[in-house]
Amino acid sequence: MGATALALAARTRGADEPAERKLGIALVGLGGYATGQLAPALQQTKHCRLVGVVTGSPDKGRARSQKYGFSEENIYSYATMARMADNKDIDIVYVVTPNALHPEHTIAAAWAGKHVISEKPMATSVADCSAMITACRVNKVKLSIGYRLQFEPHFDELKRLAREQEFGAFTKMTGGLGFTMNRPQWRAEKKLAGGGPLMDLGIYAVQAACMAAGVGFDGNAPIVITARERPKQRPGFFKDVEETLDWTMEFANDAKGEFVTSYNGGIDKFRAEGAKGWIEFAPAFQYGGLKVTTSRGPLDIPVPPTQQAAQIDAFARCVRDDRPSTVPGEMGRRDMMIIEAIYASAAQNGKRIEIKV
Ligand code: NAD
Repeated sequence: MGATALALAARTRGADEPAERKLGIALVGLGGYATGQLAPALQQTKHCRLVGVVTGSPDKGRARSQKYGFSEENIYSYATMARMADNKDIDIVYVVTPNALHPEHTIAAAWAGKHVISEKPMATSVADCSAMITACRVNKVKLSIGYRLQFEPHFDELKRLAREQEFGAFTKMTGGLGFTMNRPQWRAEKKLAGGGPLMDLGIYAVQAACMAAGVGFDGNAPIVITARERPKQRPGFFKDVEETLDWTMEFANDAKGEFVTSYNGGIDKFRAEGAKGWIEFAPAFQYGGLKVTTSRGPLDIPVPPTQQAAQIDAFARCVRDDRPSTVPGEMGRRDMMIIEAIYASAAQNGKRIEIKV
């Protein structure tokens, strides 16, 4: 392109529009979230696009390649992921399989030289999180966790309020996430899920509490955990995972949070209070339609069309600019440290457990 054409292209491009090719993303696992949320979101991303899949079902793979217009050569099985190393179309691999499989698929992607987003929870143990971080570091690829609410503007406001302390430091937090699970699925199997609703849903309250308390992931923040599992109403359904769990988190500045998570009843709320004001999310953790009120009144902030597109584009920009993700593996590992402490406390009748995250 000549200088005039370049200048014209720059002028006609919107400020936010990418100048370079969109990065290629391959989805690993074509279940509910990948199919219902991520693949559609990838039609809205500005910096990346869906170019491949990893699936146990070749039929599903072919159907996606036809629907989204990518080459059938970019369909892999879980066993052939290593071959992605030769595929220049794929820059980023997005792991959307059951929780306990995130390490295997993340590590396979890293060794194929691909940047990785792993869905939440990052894994089912701190040790596995560390192995994922190491594999990505050794292979010089970036790792991020699918925490979509880290890119949601109302939660940005929560983080800002925590940082600037307009309501004072948040010292009291409450909330939780739960729904009634009726359909048998891997989420109620410890081997694949790692636990029950805490792994799947309670993790959102853990995230929000860390945002409100201003807790990072550099190993410097002490947190004291207590937790108790409630008696199961359907022990036959929830054989080896909890059904409902209550826990508390105490932070260094005397802030305290009380939370609940459940597969037996709906709750979707988060509230943080300081000496000079409060903020409340209800619903708090959905894909959209969050209702957020503060002691000053309703918080009406424009939101992006999909949280997932905003989240994935943010990572694509990090890859393109060679910056670390703001939601790195270390954040996922921090949350797994908290989750392990919650389970350890619950197993010891609510014993106080101190960790440093
Ligand atoms: P799902 O059951 O609908 O899909 C799981 C996929 O993994 C299926 O395609 C299944 O075939 C595949 N799979 C591969 N190996 C498997 C095995 N051994 N057993 C069972 N399935 C296997 O689950 P989902 O709701 O799509 O959740 C997938 C991941 O995404 C989970 O980690 C979950 O926590 C996460 N998720 C995140 C959000 C979010 O808002 N960030 C929302 C939903 C799910």
